[in-house]
Amino acid sequence: MRDVDQTPAEESPYECFECGSVVLVENNPGQCPDCAGEMRNRHTPIE
Ligand SMILES: [Zn+2]
Repeated sequence: MRDVDQTPAEESPYECFECGSVVLVENNPGQCPDCAGEMRNRHTPIE
């Protein structure tokens, strides 16, 4: 058996400032995969 105290990494939606493209990733991609624009987290998990 394993303890499941820690929440596993969840994918969060990141939205591109430039083109509005949304990607689901575990970590901030930094750049938009489509246009290399700046990404922002659309919803930050509360822990
Ligand atoms: Zn983009």
